Amino acid sequence: MNILVTGGAGFIGSHLIERLLYLGHHVTAVDDFSNGKKEYLPSTNVEHFTFVEGDILDRHLLEDLVEECDLIYHLAAVLGVKNTVENPLKVIDGCILGTRNILEVAYQKGIKVVFASTSEIYGKNTKLPFTEDSDRVLGPPQTTRWCYATAKSLDEHLCFAYSALGLPITIVRFFNTYGPRQTSSQYGGVVPKFIVAALRNEDLTVYGDGTQTRCFTFIHDTIHALVNCIDEKANDEVINIGSNEKISIASLAAQIRKLADSRSDIVEVPYDVAYGKGFEDMQDREPSLEKAKRLLDYVPSIRMEEGLKETIKWYRERLDP
Ligand code: UDP
Repeated sequence: MNILVTGGAGFIGSHLIERLLYLGHHVTAVDDFSNGKKEYLPSTNVEHFTFVEGDILDRHLLEDLVEECDLIYHLAAVLGVKNTVENPLKVIDGCILGTRNILEVAYQKGIKVVFASTSEIYGKNTKLPFTEDSDRVLGPPQTTRWCYATAKSLDEHLCFAYSALGLPITIVRFFNTYGPRQTSSQYGGVVPKFIVAALRNEDLTVYGDGTQTRCFTFIHDTIHALVNCIDEKANDEVINIGSNEKISIASLAAQIRKLADSRSDIVEVPYDVAYGKGFEDMQDREPSLEKAKRLLDYVPSIRMEEGLKETIKWYRERLDP
């Protein structure tokens, strides 16, 4: 197939492209390098790979890109909770205008879209595990943290609006994917932040009291599920992609410190200090994976310890000695 991947130089996009090329597909990637990196673009099987630097808000560019395309993976988004609280307009525009553009050009050509959504949209719902038809319990608009979840929710509505017009779509909701290449900057996820801090023997900053839990998902598992979204069985469905290994953030810090053989201290930082006044965290996030198993033949196969070791090794090789 000829496949377009938006956000192709990013963490998930670049891993996906490697797998798609390996499977024999032709891939075109678009990325504006706001987060992705050139060095993450593929170095093998490149004869079937094209890269275009650009912004998904550019409709004309997208129209050109989909000319020969059979499928779109729409992964591009402004990411990170810190970005969400600091740059809400950028986050909202990227989600809503970007996704609207993608869906419209896809609709004009009748090309299926696999849309990357997020477990963030379950918000403060306390009924675990989250099934795909669970309620979204989002805080008020004054609390900026919820703008990403709200924008992604609207994106999901957009997907179904186009689906009603006959466009095949699949929505995947990622649950804390981690692994090599995830950004470790202040805008990155907690795993790379803790790993880099641990390798430098700097403090691991646990926000709040550290009792909040997540089900971290290793990138190779996420990619397995994403590739299987090509199957028609996944059309017009919302599917959680996560793991069932639940861990508190305090335990995550301790585990990373141990596996990285680090002398870091683990310190608690109040949410207000980390993210600004009035911040609301999600206390627990746990996916039901029944649907992913049924529709995508997906069962997470990489245990946290194994995934963390591989991720730590990757960062260790890249940090200054
Ligand atoms: N977190 C933390 N220290 C950090 C970064 C994040 O304790 O340096 C916490 C954060 O408050 C949240 C969890 O780790 O409870 C996961 O955060 P992340 O930003 O990776 O993703 P989220 O699940 O919030 O989307």
